[in-house]
Amino acid sequence: MTRIFSGIKPTGHLTLGNYLGAVRRWVEVDQHGAEALFSVVDLHALTVEHDPGRVRRLSRQAATLLLAAGLDPKLCTLFVQSHVDEHARLSYLLECTATDGELRRMIQYREKSVLARAAGEGVRLSLLTYPVLMAADILAYGADEVPVGEDQTQHVELTRDLAVRFNQRYGHTFTVPRATAPKVAARVMDLQDPTSKMGKSHANGAGIVYLLDDAETVRRKIMRAVTDSGRDVEYDREGRPGVANLLDLMAAATDGNPEALAGVYQSYGALKKDTADAVVELLRPLRERHAELAADQGHVDQVLRDGAERARGVARPLVDRAYRAIGL
Ligand code: ADP
Repeated sequence: MTRIFSGIKPTGHLTLGNYLGAVRRWVEVDQHGAEALFSVVDLHALTVEHDPGRVRRLSRQAATLLLAAGLDPKLCTLFVQSHVDEHARLSYLLECTATDGELRRMIQYREKSVLARAAGEGVRLSLLTYPVLMAADILAYGADEVPVGEDQTQHVELTRDLAVRFNQRYGHTFTVPRATAPKVAARVMDLQDPTSKMGKSHANGAGIVYLLDDAETVRRKIMRAVTDSGRDVEYDREGRPGVANLLDLMAAATDGNPEALAGVYQSYGALKKDTADAVVELLRPLRERHAELAADQGHVDQVLRDGAERARGVARPLVDRAYRAIGL
């Protein structure tokens, strides 16, 4: 059976980008008919300035939201990364497989290290090495597929390179995984700056729709989305990124096609209004279910304990095998 692994970082509140780029498919497709493991990857939240209490709260909130979105612990394994030691154990072996040059080339490292320097913070070494930890997250489970948004494809490529290199040097140990991205909204853009992706840790939340935003807030953010000064509604991601982003959102929320939708609208205002309504409806059941689950944290904690145990059972033998292969 195909095995799937994917994760989400508790560095901020989950966004519409996380949902459309990744989580929705985990719920609707991946947990059915495959052996799927999903993780709140909290070790990855420590690569930039962080507050310990906040990371802990956000981890739990992310797990609660994933359940609210429809992950079913009877169908898949949901756990917190730091509850399973195998990730850190394997990461070190992969650090001995990767080179500093290939990590310095990672786009996200280049972008985030500039931000950290500009904020007068040192660049944590883990910001450079986190793609190696991500490779360990995936390879520890022998995953065949990694469903992620477009922003993560470079990291999955690195994971493949490391798996192949390790296998060549030390004998076949790892499955070489492949990334799968959704057809529509694989890269949701910031509503205020449609040239950069909607990322949960951006300082300014005005361009970000959070999954727990109330209906009025979602409407306001979408109605104020930056477009261009043109009038025609055209699907052109390069030339008109703001309008294309709205069309992507509308298409994703209504199972439509962004190019076909462009022909339906005569004005940006009408497109924004319908997109806002569609997104509010898309998120409504998730918010309602979240409120129920948040009142029963004992249940969420139990799901995470069971999940960690199952995850350990899969990862331990594989990581042990990698230790033997490398000569330990
Ligand atoms: P973030 O950038 O919000 O911190 P994560 O690194 O936790 O996101 O990624 C969780 C998943 O959400 C990944 O599969 C990632 O590709 C996806 N994702 C994140 N932001 C977006 C976006 N703006 N559009 C599409 N997918 C996204």
